Amino acid sequence: MVHIVGAGCGAADLITLRGKRYLEEADVVIYAGSLVNRELLGFTKAGCEIYDSSKMTLEETAGVIERAEREGKTTVRLHTGDPSLYGAIGEQMREMDRSGIEYDITPGVSSFSGAAAALKTEYTLPDVSQTVIISRASGKTAVPEKESLRSLASHRATMVLFLSAGLLGQVSVELIAGGYPPETPAAIVYKASWPDEKIFRCTLSTLEETARANGINRTALITVGDFLTSDFSRSHLYDPSYSTGYREAIK
Ligand code: SAH
Repeated sequence: MVHIVGAGCGAADLITLRGKRYLEEADVVIYAGSLVNRELLGFTKAGCEIYDSSKMTLEETAGVIERAEREGKTTVRLHTGDPSLYGAIGEQMREMDRSGIEYDITPGVSSFSGAAAALKTEYTLPDVSQTVIISRASGKTAVPEKESLRSLASHRATMVLFLSAGLLGQVSVELIAGGYPPETPAAIVYKASWPDEKIFRCTLSTLEETARANGINRTALITVGDFLTSDFSRSHLYDPSYSTGYREAIK
């Protein structure tokens, strides 16, 4: 059995209780060494085999899993944040489906949630934006043309960009050409929830110079949108004059 587990975005105590239990039980752990907090490996039992996937190919990780299965062992495949976002688990599950290997997925705290917490903000403020666009700049991995940043910008919604800290010149040009005003607030969140977490607030047009001035080119999320600074209406959810499924309006 293989458990694909979200490690959370940094701080070791952001892993779920279920993820921690699977780590404690595992005979084999393959972790994404580029970003997963190594402190989490401390939950494994004595004798657990540990592999760093940042130094391995898909074929190699699949080989480790297949051997573990033949030996009746339990494997945890530990991914940073939530495995469903930029985790390359699709191709791993396809391999396991082909080999008839059973697996399940335990979600994790994605860095886009960690970044909102670091910023002490809400992405979905009433009257400001009710939509979060999660995407990335087109780089070595191409983004389909129909999802170009320029086209996504036309909504002027809250935007969170992964894997883009080294491409900020291009990000600003595309987002401004697509419809965000150049002075739209932006924030770079570096290593959300890690001890060396850093936040840099700027505007869309100053993203690249802000990153450069602070030496940021990786392990950062870019957030863009008026949610960072705008005034907003209060919600209906906690408004005394509105009834909800759980509470009558106060007349
Ligand atoms: N599955 C992960 C994302 C993996 S892709 C998740 O849900 O968070 C790797 C990218 O995620 C990095 O390049 C960076 O853009 C972002 N990232 C991961 N951890 C981060 C953190 N703690 N703070 C800021 N960005 C982070």
